[in-house]
Amino acid sequence: MPRGNGRSYGDVCLDDGGTLLDARGLDRFIAFDQETGVLRCEAGVLLGSILELCVPKGWFLPVVPGTRFVTIGGAIANDVHGKNHHAVGSFGRYVRRFELLRSDGTRRICSPQENADWFTATVGGLGLTGLTTWAELQLRRVPGAWFDTETRRFDRLDDFFELSAHSERDFEYTVAWVDCTARGNALGRGVFSRGNHCAAPSSAKSRRERGLRMPVTPPFSLVNGLTLHAFNWQHFHRAPKALQRSPQHYRPWLFPLDGIRDWNRMYGPHGFLQYQCVLPPPAARDGVRELLDRIAASGSGSFLAVLKQFGAIRSSGLLSFPCPGTTLALDFANRGPATFELLDRLDEVVAAAGGAVYPAKDARMSGERFRGYFPAWRQFSGFIDPAFSSGFWRRVMQ
Ligand SMILES: Cc1cc2nc3c(=O)[nH]c(=O)nc-3n(C[C@H](O)[C@H](O)[C@H](O)COP(=O)(O)OP(=O)(O)OC[C@H]3O[C@@H](n4cnc5c(N)ncnc54)[C@H](O)[C@@H]3O)c2cc1C
Repeated sequence: MPRGNGRSYGDVCLDDGGTLLDARGLDRFIAFDQETGVLRCEAGVLLGSILELCVPKGWFLPVVPGTRFVTIGGAIANDVHGKNHHAVGSFGRYVRRFELLRSDGTRRICSPQENADWFTATVGGLGLTGLTTWAELQLRRVPGAWFDTETRRFDRLDDFFELSAHSERDFEYTVAWVDCTARGNALGRGVFSRGNHCAAPSSAKSRRERGLRMPVTPPFSLVNGLTLHAFNWQHFHRAPKALQRSPQHYRPWLFPLDGIRDWNRMYGPHGFLQYQCVLPPPAARDGVRELLDRIAASGSGSFLAVLKQFGAIRSSGLLSFPCPGTTLALDFANRGPATFELLDRLDEVVAAAGGAVYPAKDARMSGERFRGYFPAWRQFSGFIDPAFSSGFWRRVMQ
């Protein structure tokens, strides 16, 4: 099966005992129309390389996830979303067409108009329908490489919902960090950020990446109850009480973790699990509260817990994860069975709310849960290339 840049957290990009097709060699740009913003490139090109080429010319990718080290093929296969989902939807909406190469040697051009059934199966199709060799994307115009951002802390979960609702019309990008250690009245407190593309401020200096790095894997996880409480307390209290405006370059603002190479090493030799779910609107408020309650009670959780409202724009893929509702994402240091049991307890809340867990960030959900979250799996199965499989797919089909 194809592998992009391996930035998925679980086993959608793994195939134990099988053969991986490393798509990173497909790294050529094919055409770019500077008048229309239509870009065609091979599927192993990184989103970061596209931004380096296009931002100086006044164009930007309409949707970017929280890291720029993702290939076009990977972005299509997981139909990735960004901080602007409420305004623009997910990645697949900006894919004009692509070529799908099947293991029998046949090639199909797929677009919303041509081979539309293959298009909707492949967007969000977890790399199982064939190899995407190239894709054509519609970029969007921007005034520059910067963001006009505003940040403030909020004291409780209800404030997050209010801030999101008030910001969605005027701000294309919104996201919140949430203190997953807070309990009681402070449950769901966090820091809310919103922003729009802007031109370079007059004070902007030429930027050089600081290039921090976790030099070694420590013998134990640096993320434990003590460090978690200390970091979260400090991060919350250092944030301004009222909205504070600041210009930020797109790289640190959209891709904060890309500034620390090998950040995953801080979890020590046992690593970590990421968990991202979405809860639809009627149940979102109570459901997120229940999730945060269960996480805080467990004493687990991460420095980087993210809350975001997805919008109503329909995703293009049969198995696309983004749908209207509230999404929560966070990491858990791997403490063995206790961690897996906690994630099973979170699944109970997600399933009861009619939500879903994101396959790109999953390494453990059961087949029963997956099939409940993604009822279109049956229809999707008919498009799977007979020579393709993945650890993820074998697991969730059990
Ligand atoms: C720090 C960080 C932040 C993230 N933030 C977000 C976020 O905000 N939003 C979000 O949606 N995701 C996010 N992600 C997840 C990431 O965007 C996705 O997992 C993405 O799909 C990874 O792309 P990749 O190129 O690394 O592909 P891989 O992880 O290698 O593969 C992902 C899938 O794509 C398939 N694939 C890859 N190339 C091809 C190809 N040429 N043809 C067919 N199939 C192919 C693989 O088979 C696999 O199923 C984040 C990940 C990290 C590490």
